[in-house]
Amino acid sequence: MIKLPDNFETFDEKRKKGFISLMEEKQKGKKIVGTFCTYTPVELILAAGAVSVSLCGNSELGIPEAEAILPKTLCPLIKSSFGLAISDKCPYFYFSDMILAETTCDGKKKMYELLNEIKPVHVMHLPQGQNGPLAILSWKEQIKQTAKYIGDFFNTEITEEKLHNAIVERNRIRKAILKAYEVTKLVPSPVSGYELSSVIEATDFHFTDDDIVEYLESKTNEFLSKYKPRDYNEKHRPRLMLTGCPHTGVRDKIIKKVEDLGADIVVIDSCAGPRTQRILVDETKDPYEALAEKYLKINCSVMTPNDGRFEDMKSIIEEYKVDGVVEMVLFACHTFAIEAHKTKKFITEKLGLPYIRIDTDFSSSDSAQIQTRLEAFLEMIS
Ligand code: SF4
Ligand code: SF4
Repeated sequence: MIKLPDNFETFDEKRKKGFISLMEEKQKGKKIVGTFCTYTPVELILAAGAVSVSLCGNSELGIPEAEAILPKTLCPLIKSSFGLAISDKCPYFYFSDMILAETTCDGKKKMYELLNEIKPVHVMHLPQGQNGPLAILSWKEQIKQTAKYIGDFFNTEITEEKLHNAIVERNRIRKAILKAYEVTKLVPSPVSGYELSSVIEATDFHFTDDDIVEYLESKTNEFLSKYKPRDYNEKHRPRLMLTGCPHTGVRDKIIKKVEDLGADIVVIDSCAGPRTQRILVDETKDPYEALAEKYLKINCSVMTPNDGRFEDMKSIIEEYKVDGVVEMVLFACHTFAIEAHKTKKFITEKLGLPYIRIDTDFSSSDSAQIQTRLEAFLEMIS
């Protein structure tokens, strides 16, 4: 029987609404697969007739529960995701039938072992690097095995035709997301980075492809209609790129703060940003081959080497006419923290742009200190 969690009455109205709308979807017979990473080939989920929902934690909620089990010194994203799951506070996790995950960073892959004690978790073995002939072969094999696993789990067969249709649908969503992102190429941008990232995040609350595309198209048109060519008498707001760890848990602390201080975050160089959305899955070739190629092209610091990230950054900086770079590193994210050394060198020495690195977590305890550093940075580049 589909029921709400025992602690439902303790939630605020927004959370209650989230649980009720997901429960309604389940009652209609919807199958739900939770995911944690951009490397997840969501087309497999769609081809099984299920919907994929993102389970990445993005607030302090759940962290105290997580810290009773996980090390306090772990990345806040992992702690928040785990804590929300074990405390029944996340409607998406609560109503997920299964979880599809990958071997990315060490913290995440060990956390999945614990999650598997609560819900079935299928972990795909992602190659540690994108190069060499074995990487693509092993990843393609993983995708094939996962298609079989998901098909068996939901008692359905993932045929090549279903997979092809899912690829076409997902590409349609990618194009709509990319179009929304590209609005900020305009100078000045007609939409703040904060508002745009809120819109992209809100696609998680739409459960059909048509709904997602319709929502994104209407928002894109709304933003475009607000565009006013630059008034040269007005002070130029610096155009910044945000790079580093996934940013959803620090949107207020970094993106909103930067924009309140007089600059614009015109592009977010993250695994879910434009650089990933513009890589479509080839609709003309074997679907498994095409999926393996697309997903292995995603540049993330968990890969070694991760040189493609720098090529991506260069083109994004040029296309979005970026004046400076803010890098955000979550505490205990070793891969991004170590790679930040190269990023700083690349941005300052190769591209000659100002750069600031901010190490933080999901708490508000360092907000004042971050504000002071951002003020000094913006003063320097204005
Ligand atoms: S940053 Fe890397 S590991 Fe994290 S969600 Fe993105 S692709 Fe996955
Ligand atoms: S931010 Fe870093 S440590 Fe945290 S989940 Fe992502 S890759 Fe892992």
